Amino acid sequence: MRLYTHTSCLQHDPGPDQPESPARLRAVLQALDHDRFAAVDRIEAPRATREQLLRVHTAEHIDRILNTLPDSDTVRLDEDTLMSPGSAEAALRAAGALVAAVDAVLGQGGRAFCAVRPPGHHATPDRAMGFCLFNNVAVAAAHAIAAHGLKRVAIADFDVHHGNGTQDIFEREPRVLFLSSHQMPLYPETGREDERGAGNIVNGPLSPGDGSYEFRELWEGVLLPRMHAFKPQLVLVSAGFDAHRNDPLADLRLGSEDYAWITSRLVAVAEAHAEGRLISTLEGGYNLLALATSVAEHVGVLMEP
Ligand SMILES: [Zn+2]
Repeated sequence: MRLYTHTSCLQHDPGPDQPESPARLRAVLQALDHDRFAAVDRIEAPRATREQLLRVHTAEHIDRILNTLPDSDTVRLDEDTLMSPGSAEAALRAAGALVAAVDAVLGQGGRAFCAVRPPGHHATPDRAMGFCLFNNVAVAAAHAIAAHGLKRVAIADFDVHHGNGTQDIFEREPRVLFLSSHQMPLYPETGREDERGAGNIVNGPLSPGDGSYEFRELWEGVLLPRMHAFKPQLVLVSAGFDAHRNDPLADLRLGSEDYAWITSRLVAVAEAHAEGRLISTLEGGYNLLALATSVAEHVGVLMEP
């Protein structure tokens, strides 16, 4: 299993009051710096190119991110999305990690986890929002289609927030199947079941207070069967860990064992249809201990033969 990250991803610093902080990635990397993960192949993420970003973002959006270089302190792009001097480089490395993972996994097979930030799934074609600058997982799906000629790419998003940006980018792209479990009502207030795109969007809203049972029933009963029927050639995962019961931003009640469970189910989809090819990327997760424990469960399953 490959692990992509870059020290630049620690240099994106939205400020002391922001839950999406460098401490999150430090907690993740510390959890993975353990004998249990000694066999992981650690790879430094390259920068995404302009051509790779242009597949999912407008030129104006890319220029805005790359040209917003505060000398110090931060610049606010929207209510909860800020940039510091290191943010543009971090965003390029985060998206670039996914592109490199696609090239490696489609070339040599296997699985990968991208321990990167800023996260991506709220970023729309032309807007940064919800802590996200570039839509990393969307850049990966578009790269798999454009550079490798894939015809069916599935994106499974189990972050507690709806991946509105990923949905926006692909709602008219039938080569991508986007499936999401998320709490409703909750930011960004999208993700109703009747948002179906071109038949390629499958939203599974959960209610505040729902936990392991409802989460597993949703994936087992609705989302995983749709994934299997699609027969993806590559499985991408927007892995947010903020549906954990201890997360401060939401009200679902998952435990770290639920992340092991969903990971094993998604691995099974990849094994059945995609020659095992699966790439996961970090989205949310704001309780540092819950995040570290849940990522360790997730990566532990990804490492299994
Ligand atoms: Zn989230």
